[in-house]
Amino acid sequence: MLMVEPLEKRLREISAEGMADYFGIADLGPAKDAIPLQGGEWLRPYDRAVVVGIRMFDDLVDKLPEHDKAVAIDYRHHCYEILNLRLDQIVSRLAGEVQSQGHAAVPVPASKRYDDERICAMFSHKMAAHLAGLGWIGKSCMLITPDHGPRVRWASLLTNAPLTATGSAMPPKCGECRECVDACPVKAFTGRAFVVTEPREARFDARKCEVYFDELEAKGGPGVCGMCVAVCPRGRAKPRPK
Ligand code: SF4
Ligand code: SF4
Repeated sequence: MLMVEPLEKRLREISAEGMADYFGIADLGPAKDAIPLQGGEWLRPYDRAVVVGIRMFDDLVDKLPEHDKAVAIDYRHHCYEILNLRLDQIVSRLAGEVQSQGHAAVPVPASKRYDDERICAMFSHKMAAHLAGLGWIGKSCMLITPDHGPRVRWASLLTNAPLTATGSAMPPKCGECRECVDACPVKAFTGRAFVVTEPREARFDARKCEVYFDELEAKGGPGVCGMCVAVCPRGRAKPRPK
């Protein structure tokens, strides 16, 4: 069995080969009771998550507020479906490596609904990224990275390999900003800052967002909004050299 450091080094290499922009290792200890409540008791034994993130494409995100159908179709395909596929492939390879080194490895889908009632997945990648020190939970309930705001998609694997956490939970840095709260067309956010002991419902009514997407699809569109992603000043694209 490899020592810890060589294993982490190999996982970082695999992540880089898949062109992931973010890599982190989370100590899941602070969430050890919340994780089984979300996805079931079978997740309790795993005390580490390896989390990877890939940036969305700024040129598509920046154009979302124009409500152009072609942009929405492209955004849904390349900033959602394809990035999820790329993340799933990276996580599958990471899980294969962890398993081959003799440790438990549970790859978690980048985006699969687990509970229709609560509108949630079996495991929160953004929570893992938060605990890995990669960003904070914003008023939009998304993981906000210091460099790219919410313009990152995430996936993770669960393990109990003896990996060292890359960081710890970053405190909220939204400050007085409310741009996502004010931009949401269905007022799905309450504007409350993240507090670890409060449920998501204190900040976000996911049903409002889902109903809005259904309405957009019923009108023949691709069911894309993303205003909370596009307006966040932490993620706004930096000017590029001409
Ligand atoms: S995607 Fe749109 S409707 Fe849903 S929470 Fe974000 S801004 Fe609101
Ligand atoms: S738009 Fe403002 S309030 Fe919303 S997540 Fe970004 S920084 Fe926080």
